[in-house]
Amino acid sequence: MDGIMTTGALIAIAASAAAMTVIVGVRYLLTSGAFALATRSVRPGLYKGLDSQIGKEIRWSLLSAAIYGIPAGVVAWGWQERGWTQIYADPAAMPLWWMPVSLVVYLFAHDTWFYWTHRWMHAPRPFRIAHAVHHASRPPTAWAAMAFHPIEAITGAVVIPALVFFVPIHVGVLAGVLAIMTVMGVTNHMGWEIFPRALVHSRLGSVLITASHHQVHHEKYRCNYGLYFRFWDRLCGTDAGLAKPGWDGR
Ligand SMILES: [Zn+2]
Ligand SMILES: [Zn+2]
Repeated sequence: MDGIMTTGALIAIAASAAAMTVIVGVRYLLTSGAFALATRSVRPGLYKGLDSQIGKEIRWSLLSAAIYGIPAGVVAWGWQERGWTQIYADPAAMPLWWMPVSLVVYLFAHDTWFYWTHRWMHAPRPFRIAHAVHHASRPPTAWAAMAFHPIEAITGAVVIPALVFFVPIHVGVLAGVLAIMTVMGVTNHMGWEIFPRALVHSRLGSVLITASHHQVHHEKYRCNYGLYFRFWDRLCGTDAGLAKPGWDGR
């Protein structure tokens, strides 16, 4: 069967893609749901009057879950069944120092891809066709984490499945990358800062992106394009700094 996919293999790939879609969708509902609940107790009334917007955020996000789930499911199948990818499970397969370094490499690579595709999507045509969906959240809520037009969802969905073919990563570190991606995606849109002031305004905080930074992107559009780090925004002069103190009512 060299080089030819059997019917059985194709069914297994489809099942893997479907399972991954369900996982991504449930992960989104649980994470966004948990932070939306937290918002209700920490900032009561913050999402008042946003019910119809939230409905749209959830529908776009669940569509995105399918788009994220398909490449992830195909690659997960290939990793298990065909030995594709550079994902390793034996911690001794690479030097231990590679674990934290690979985490940063993955986050930085994803951030770089996101920054440049995001800037591109703010050009008039791609904005009108695709990115306007994400900016329809005014102000964004915890449910907006994956509220993307399918074109934008595809640009986001291919990054990690492509990286695992080239950059070795321990399966546990990969889980960490996905967890950071999920939590930051939700908290950056939540409408309030969950991280302590002392961190957000520290040296470390000045290189990391949290809600205080991404909120400004949703207010002013043509600045603060980054995902995890302020590196590209700073380098390219698109960093407009953090939202004014008190922006989230604390
Ligand atoms: Zn956003
Ligand atoms: Zn944008």
